[in-house]
Formats: sequence, C-alpha cells, structure tokens
Amino acid sequence: MANGYNGKMLRVDLSRRAISVDELKDRFYRCYLGGRGFISYYLLKELEAGIDPLGPDNKLVFACGVVTGVPVGGCGRNSVGAKSPLTGAYGDAEVGGYWGAELKHAGYDGIIVEGKAEKPVYLWIKDGQAEIRDASHLWGKSTGECQEAIRSDVGEPLARTATIGQAGENLVRYAAILNDIHHAAGRTGMGAVMGSKNLKAIAVRGRNHPALANPEAVRALAKWLRDIVGIVMGGMHAQGTAVGLKALNRDGGLPTRNFQEGVFEEADKISGRAMKETILVGEGSCYACPVRCKRVTSVSEPYQVDPAYGGPEYETLASFGSNCGIDDLAAIAKANELCNAYGLDTISAGATVSFAMECFERGILSEKDTGGLKLNFGDASAMLQLVELIAKREGIGDVLAEGVARAAKRIGRGAEEFALHVKGQELPMHEPRYKQGLGIGYAISPKGADHTMSVHDSMYTGEGPLLENAKALGLLEPLALDDLSPAKVRMVAYHSCWQHLLDSLVMCNFMPFSYGQVSELVGVTTGWNSTVWELMKVGERCLAMTRAFNIREGLGKKDDSLPQRFFTPLPSGPLQGVSIGKDEFEQAKETFYSMLGWDKAEGRPSLGKLQELGIEWVADYI
Ligand code: SF4
Repeated sequence: MANGYNGKMLRVDLSRRAISVDELKDRFYRCYLGGRGFISYYLLKELEAGIDPLGPDNKLVFACGVVTGVPVGGCGRNSVGAKSPLTGAYGDAEVGGYWGAELKHAGYDGIIVEGKAEKPVYLWIKDGQAEIRDASHLWGKSTGECQEAIRSDVGEPLARTATIGQAGENLVRYAAILNDIHHAAGRTGMGAVMGSKNLKAIAVRGRNHPALANPEAVRALAKWLRDIVGIVMGGMHAQGTAVGLKALNRDGGLPTRNFQEGVFEEADKISGRAMKETILVGEGSCYACPVRCKRVTSVSEPYQVDPAYGGPEYETLASFGSNCGIDDLAAIAKANELCNAYGLDTISAGATVSFAMECFERGILSEKDTGGLKLNFGDASAMLQLVELIAKREGIGDVLAEGVARAAKRIGRGAEEFALHVKGQELPMHEPRYKQGLGIGYAISPKGADHTMSVHDSMYTGEGPLLENAKALGLLEPLALDDLSPAKVRMVAYHSCWQHLLDSLVMCNFMPFSYGQVSELVGVTTGWNSTVWELMKVGERCLAMTRAFNIREGLGKKDDSLPQRFFTPLPSGPLQGVSIGKDEFEQAKETFYSMLGWDKAEGRPSLGKLQELGIEWVADYI
C-alpha cells in the first residue's frame, strides 16, 4: 500500500441495511486519484443507463482524493456525485470544510451509498467503524438542528457532518449537501439524491492520518503556502471570493437582472469590501488552509442572520444580489443563511429567483401564479419569501423547485427564452459574453454550466504570474477575452483537463501552487514519481469518462449549447454590443472535440483515445 490513502471505500446498502468495504489496489488510485475520477468510474461501471436519478437504483458516491487530509492548504475537500436529478447527466459537487479530511482520518477514502432506507437514517462513522442509525427524529429539521442533534446523539462535539435540510427531503432538484452546515456541495442536486435515499446525514470522526511518503517535504510545501498567502492572497483573505466583484462590474461582466446586463449600478453595496465594513464578523476556513477566504456574517435587523451558517461568497452575492437587482447585503446574507439551513444550492436558487423575476416583469407570471408575490427585480422581501417557498415546495415554489428548464416548460407562454441553463443546470455568475472561452467550457462541461471546470479567460489576457505558470503547459501567449480561435480552444482544453485533475485530487482551485508543485505534492504524499504530464492524463481520463457517461444517457452535441441570450449583444456598459458569434462557437466546439480525440458528430471519445488513456474498458459502456 502506498502512502496518502487508506485503500478502502465504504459501501452502504440502505435497502438491505448492509455495510461492506471495497479494498482497492494501488493501481486504481494512480489511475483515478479520487474525487471525480472515482465517481465517474463507479457511476459508469455500476449504474444502468436511463435509471431514475431519484430512484433507489442511483448511487451516491462521496470521494476524497489521494491528498485529502494531508496537512496542506486546499486539501480538506471532498466530492460527492451521482446521476443528477437536475440534468439527467453526470452530476457531482466539490465541497470544502473539514468533513473530507475527517473521513480520510476515519479510515475511508470514500463512501458508496446504494438503495433506499425504509425510514430516515443517518450514518455514523468513527475510526473505521460504521453504523446506520435511525433519523426519524431529524427529518424535517434544518441542517443546523440536525448537526447539533447528531453531535449530541453520538457524544462527539467535534463530529463532522454532511447533512441535507428540508430542500433535500423535498427533492428540490438543486438541493445541496452541507458540510458543517456552511460549506455546500451545491451543484447538480446531490442533496435531492441523498433525500431520495432517506439519508439525512453522514457524521464522521477519525484520528488516524494515513502515512506520508515524505513528511518533511509535505511540511515544506505547507510552509511555502503559509509564507506566500499574505503576499499573493491578501485580498481573498480580507474580502473573500467577492474580492473581484467590483472589477467584474467595471469591465461590464457582472451578471445583472438575469444576465440582461453586465453592470449593476449598486455593485459597491454588495462588494467584498462593503461586507467587510458592515456585516462581517469573522473569517472561516477549510482544513489546514491559511487563506481563510470563507465569510462569517451576522445581522440582527431587519433580518436575523445566524453566523453559524457562514456568509455569502461571490457566487451568492451575485446570484441573489446583482442578478436579482438587489443591493441589500443583509437580505443577501439572509438568503445565504436560508439556503444553508434548508440545503439549497445558492447559485441555482438565486438564478431561479432571477428567472422568475424576469418572467414576472414580462407578464409571463402574474400575481395569480405567484400567490400574490410581486416578483420585481430589486424586491428583497419577495426574493426571501420565494427561497422559502422553493425549499418547502409550496405554491409557485413547487414549480421553481424543478429548476429553470423544467419550470419554464411548465409555465409555458414563452418562459423558455428566459430560462438560462446548460443541460438543465443554471448558470454560475460569470458572463460568457465577457469570458468567451468559459462559455465553451459551460457548454462542454459534463455537469452543465459550471465555472470550476474550465478556463477563466480574464486570467490570461496579459503577461503576469498566471500566464507564466500556464507556460509550463505550453500556453505561451496571452489571448483576448473574446478570442475563440484554436489557440483559445487549446487553452480551454488544457484547463479542462487540469480542472478535472484538481477535482480528482479534490484540491481547492484557489491555491497558488504551480503545476509542478501540485505534482510534487502528489509525489511527496504517495511516494510516486508523479509528473505534470501524468496528472494531466488523469484529468483527461476523467473528462473522457464523464463524457462517456453522458453519451450513454443519450446526451451529445446538441446538449453542448448556450442559451440564446448569449448570442445576442449586451445592451449597455463597457461590453455594449458584444455577443458570442454563433458560427465561431460551433466551430470552437468541434475544435475542442477533435483536440480531445472525440468525434465531430456527437463528441464521442474514440476507441484510440480511450486506449491512449488506458481506459479502453469504457468503450464497453457506451
Ligand atoms: S482558499 Fe478558501 S475555499 Fe480554498 S481551502 Fe482555503 S478557505 Fe477553503
């Protein structure tokens, strides 16, 4: 057994109340590393095509990576994946906090949850021992109430929890799973899958750290990170992920009023600085991380906001703020608290509210449909009421709990034009007319629109430390934001592979490590002679496996699309008149396919490519 991992996945069959352990070989870890690599492997091998994502045949896979739980910043995360109830495609979410590291220290590299419990249950894992416990008394409780009750039940005040709230129980298709009640595995509806299995929570406690191949070198990397954080990440520490909100607004790329505009006239009121100067009461962190970018906010009037639920990150500030036309920071913090307590993805929830607001303002929805709610952009009170209705699936909330794609079909009357999604998943808060390479990334991502799986063009428009790092991959030239040439597609392709790699290691995207340092970290943790080349191939392997999963589910080229809004010009601001060229977009997609060894007709990975990646077994599943 190499270092850095346990060699064990816990398998929990809720239908039979049976627990077993899969013992895994070293080669498996080196090929797939963990996280998305493991999840896509298990979902391809163990799910039948066409299963109901909310039925007992779906499997929910929690997975750490080989570096999870290593005492270096960015290494405390875990992934959780399943067939998505939001998209019907490959689904997963990555999440920070402490739960992933704790699971690793409890003796497991992941958990495969199968079947469906007859009654609500939770799973308790402590130092290698696992048991299924009754959770009838926890059903209907918020994530916070649930965490408190479980910690008291198991007698471990430091037990780490992954919990769903009422949204997951109610099968809201974009329900989240909350680590420690304020770190969300938000995307693709994994909370709904957990709810469909009657699994309320997984609590873990562990004290055994897997051995490290070279502890001294691991410590040196951790120290390098601590020393450099103050120099290059002071802004993130001070203002959190919202540190770039005002710059996006200045450049005309801040999603505003359901992406109708790119400039929000009140951006100053919802910025990271404004939060720091008003409602911020502390910074939070993830396991071993010196950056501490997480926010803790508290409000007493006019809303009570409980700091236990953390505070809004950039995505939340934009989705409930500018994209709903709302400049009330206290209301946004309240929306964040509600989402974390009910277990909702703040991106999809905010984007769904903004969709409903646009439908209301255009007369597609009326007060008759909304139960009297006036859903105008800028109305914070209506926004907060709608979040509650969605989580409880009451009134119009029941329709909107389906996500914008299904909701628009139900509403009709032309609503589909204003439902902004890719493959059924609502857009994150990055304007694809501004970052056009990311637009290609949104379209091609196996999860639907996702901002963590591809390149952010604005980081590589000029010389600087980011481009200097990218030169190690052979990306030598700065490229314009609206460039969709083969050179940009190559940048998108390489970054897509790298992002899939990071999500297989389950490392935080924000770490300022070079590509070489990441491979060094893998090497000094495991003892392997890892290289950047090898890691890139793991990412590409993972990209091919998630693509294969979607091909098997009947998705293809037509699903690699963007909403029509992004092919029409922005009406105002610095990007006035800018749109994505439809022909350039289609050409860029095909170029991406051919660079990855996928066919032009559907983007199906070729047998030769699968063989090159050492995963020819995938051909039997598509
Ligand atoms: S940078 Fe922020 S999100 Fe990433 S590990 Fe550190 S605290 Fe967590």
